[in-house]
Parts: sequence; C-alpha cells; structure tokens
Amino acid sequence: MNDCLFCKIATGAITADVLYEDDEVLAFRDIAPQAPHHFLVIPRRHLSGPAAIGSDEEQLFGKMMRIGAELAEKLGIGTGFRVVLNNGAEAGQTVFHIHMHILGGRPMHWPPG
Ligand code: IMP
Repeated sequence: MNDCLFCKIATGAITADVLYEDDEVLAFRDIAPQAPHHFLVIPRRHLSGPAAIGSDEEQLFGKMMRIGAELAEKLGIGTGFRVVLNNGAEAGQTVFHIHMHILGGRPMHWPPG
C-alpha cells in the first residue's frame, strides 16, 4: 500500500528504531511510548488489522507473538509485559497495518480504558 506508514517502515523508506527484522517480520520502538518499553511487531506484508487475519496468516501471527515475547525477554521485561492489538478506529487503531503492541517496564492496570 503506497500510503501506508508501516509499509514504508517495512521497506526502509521511513526510518524506525528497529529491534528485530527478517524477511517476514519487523519490530521497532513506538514513537510515542506508553511505558518504559513499548515496541510494535508488524508483518512486512500489508494487512489492515487483526480482523484481516485469515488461515493463511495463522503461522505468521504466531511468529509475531514469538518474536514479541523473545524481544520482551531480551529487554528484561519477559516476566511482565502487555500485548495489545487494536482493531478498528473505535478500538483506538490509528495505523491500519496490523501491529502488535508490546508494553512493559511499569505496573499495568485493568481495565485498560
Ligand atoms: P494504534 O493506535 O494501535 O494504531 O497504534 C499505532 C501506534 O503507532 C501508536 O502507538 C503510535 O505512537 C505509533 N506510531 C505512529 N507513527 C510511528 C512511527 O513513525 N514510528 C513508530 N511508531 C509510530
């Protein structure tokens, strides 16, 4: 998608503080962190959001979760981190390229609001 911010980050057209990358998945720090550690895990391939995951993406989604958890461990927040996926503007989604938020390094509260 030409106008997708995260597609541009995935191709390197826009720079990001990248923590992990391979041919399918990229993880980078959120530009407006909501916790001491806050990073996003995305697939390089454009998918609009969690509801766009089909059976073809099940393995990719599992890989995103594994990489997020491994990075959390590496950053020292492996014993306490939150995973957030917003689907749709009503849920707070602002970038319509699926991304898994991983947040940690402070106490988390529930409900999230
Ligand atoms: P959403 O609200 O779930 O769609 O989350 C989008 C996230 O992308 C927000 O937490 C933003 O701070 C983050 N974000 C927006 N632009 C950039 C960027 O250029 N680099 C890194 N993170 C970004």
